[in-house]
Amino acid sequence: MVNIGSVQIGGSAPVMIQSMTNTKTSDAAATLKQIAHLQEAGCEAVRVAVPDPESAEALKFITKESPLPVIADVHFDVKLAHMAIERGAAKIRINPGNIGSPDTLIELAQKAKKYKIPIRIGVNAGSLERSLTKKYGGATPEALAESAFRYYELLEKTGYSETIVSLKASDVSTTISANRLFAEKCSAPLHLGITEAGTPDVGVIKSAIGIGTLLAEGIGDTIRVSLTASPIEEIKVARQILQALGIRVFGPELISCPTCGRCATDLVLLAEKVEVLLKNYTVPIRVAVMGCAVNGPGEAREADIGISAGKKKGILFRDGNVIRTVSQDKLLPALKEEIDAFVKGRDESGSFKEGNY
Ligand code: SF4
Repeated sequence: MVNIGSVQIGGSAPVMIQSMTNTKTSDAAATLKQIAHLQEAGCEAVRVAVPDPESAEALKFITKESPLPVIADVHFDVKLAHMAIERGAAKIRINPGNIGSPDTLIELAQKAKKYKIPIRIGVNAGSLERSLTKKYGGATPEALAESAFRYYELLEKTGYSETIVSLKASDVSTTISANRLFAEKCSAPLHLGITEAGTPDVGVIKSAIGIGTLLAEGIGDTIRVSLTASPIEEIKVARQILQALGIRVFGPELISCPTCGRCATDLVLLAEKVEVLLKNYTVPIRVAVMGCAVNGPGEAREADIGISAGKKKGILFRDGNVIRTVSQDKLLPALKEEIDAFVKGRDESGSFKEGNY
């Protein structure tokens, strides 16, 4: 287990969610503003790009004011990584393929050790050592795993034990296989992500499959969903992946049927309204929205509370049992009442607490 500021990664710590700012890091005010928004959305550690001395210099202020641990992302110029450590970065992310010789990396690890911060060795398919691509005939999972293990071992031998590793490719299968191979061999905390996953349309699916498959196998300690979109979107998707797997729970879950010829109402509209309603709650509750009274309660038996809409009337059910029948226009307010009662009951019994657990 390693610490990134006050956040633990690895071992029994919850899988941590991180993202990356897209402001100019040299603009400390704009970067801090975005960090605040990310924290509000549920981000737990934030990475910032450090492409120049101005950005490294700004870290002095950003790391002091940031509510989240700040990770400095450095490519090519190791001097910037040293500057970032001295200015309070809680972790350094480097790509061993472009940071310099092994001696450069060892020297950086010595500095990180002195400041008690972790380094992430971020191995990417696009910048793998030529010797390995030659050996394996390309950026294969085996090549990625061997590269990551080489650097991990190099640092371990020098007495540095705060290494976090990531093995990323934009290809989902390569990423999954590379991480599996590495995890078989090494227990270093793993940062998971599908790099350059694309716009949300495709990127969400790639990330959910890639990150989700590994997490379901018990591989991975922190995740970053990479989307060509606002970083806030990345946090939403990361939370959904963790919640869908039951690894962490952040709030209500909506279950809704796909509709079929038995559906007697505009269920898409109704489900959207319930989705908006659920945004007001942070408690873990499963709410079902079903399209017919005959099959709805049974099909959504695993839901805590649900509604099935009929032509003019709808029914409310709890744990699969019908509890009320109401007219169509009263269905949504009745659902809200039931959710509130459910939440109050659970709250009083103390059987759950809000937020992450
Ligand atoms: S709940 Fe009813 S409408 Fe929805 S898919 Fe099942 S049978 Fe069809």
